[in-house]
Amino acid sequence: MTQNFFSFDQKLITAANKAEQLCKEEFDKIEALCAYNESKMLKAFTECRVSESHFAGSAGYGYGDRGREVLDEVFAKVFDTEDALVRYNFVSGTHALSVALFGVLRPGDVILSVTGKPYDTMEEVIGLSKKKGTGSLYDFGIEYRQLDLTKDNTVDLAQIANKADGVKLFYIQRSRGYSLRESLTIDKIEQIVKVIRSVNKDAIIFVDNCYGEFVEDREPTSVGVDLVAGSLIKNAGGGIARTGGYIAGRKDLIELCADRLTCVSMGKEVGCTLGMNRELFLGLFMAPSVVQNALKTITFALCLFDQLGFKVHPEYNAKKTDIIGALELLNEQNLIAFCKGIQKGSPVDSFVTPEPWDMPGYDSKVIMAAGAFTMGASIELSADAPLREPYAVWLQGGITYNTGKLGIMHAAQELIDINAIK
Ligand SMILES: *Cc1c(COP(=O)(O)O)cnc(C)c1O
Repeated sequence: MTQNFFSFDQKLITAANKAEQLCKEEFDKIEALCAYNESKMLKAFTECRVSESHFAGSAGYGYGDRGREVLDEVFAKVFDTEDALVRYNFVSGTHALSVALFGVLRPGDVILSVTGKPYDTMEEVIGLSKKKGTGSLYDFGIEYRQLDLTKDNTVDLAQIANKADGVKLFYIQRSRGYSLRESLTIDKIEQIVKVIRSVNKDAIIFVDNCYGEFVEDREPTSVGVDLVAGSLIKNAGGGIARTGGYIAGRKDLIELCADRLTCVSMGKEVGCTLGMNRELFLGLFMAPSVVQNALKTITFALCLFDQLGFKVHPEYNAKKTDIIGALELLNEQNLIAFCKGIQKGSPVDSFVTPEPWDMPGYDSKVIMAAGAFTMGASIELSADAPLREPYAVWLQGGITYNTGKLGIMHAAQELIDINAIK
């Protein structure tokens, strides 16, 4: 059954069909991964005896909110770890990461990033500019050190030992973020953990897990990482959670993080959930399936644009550990056309035209396309592109594969319309 509701060029339809054929083997793997993670999820829900009564919202202090407690238990179980702090009160992924770092670090401690410069929003939290009076980690006397990536953009394993002295927390960013380096697979993270443990038994190993949840059959906490954090409007909220974040890991560390999120001694015991529990449970339950759709969407996009002659990161058939794909589109006009196409193919605000703008913290204009049910939710199909070399667009999400694919085809059609594709 072929339907062309959107008047795509016949040659685009042919190219898309071919890309989908080429992706078949990858899609089989993605489906098998999803089946595994959904089984694990169902097991956790049953073992933790999730019940309708847990969806009732508490008010006020929220003492004894069983839904909140059981959600943490389920989350910890699927992350193969001791405890978790899953809260709608986290306003974003950066907030969850920030609470985790402030929760476990103390003045005089040293943090070492082994994956080069962290994600943009973390720069101010850490205090890379070394400004005083901002309330950053730096301002509180926490020293930041960085191990740069090697020339070929990988973690410099050989240098970790030389840098490990006196480090309290090793910081690892799993996903590429807005760079073209490779994202770190769980195997690779396991390797890094081993190297760190061979020289430092006691340090906290921390992972920024944004975009990585349920993309593999294990999480960083399955391979010896002590603490992870991420956003609920990315993978772990399954496209259902309207806000929130999580921290998961060692029980003693989660307690410190909870004391930082609320206040010392109250920790996890307080925090009413109003009516949010149901959607956080449902979102978590849906997450492996929604991640499957996002992975298929991105895999399709990487394959199609590879076929169309553009450089893509990673290759469509490379092992994935996050839901991000980057396409090098050669010039500014192409980036703008691509983002316009993604917007046109979105379920919400399809009729608006994205424009490049001067985004704070960037040294060039940035164009973004997102027609999402939740503002800024990048588990939904979205694209961002800084208008500078190497003229790459970063793509993520897609809560259903078929509509995700159509979004990508809209983007390709825009490029055809400006004669950027033969
Ligand atoms: C999204 C993301 C964050 C956090 O961003 P928020 O927009 O605050 O949720 C941090 N690190 C990485 C690698 C990310 O992708």
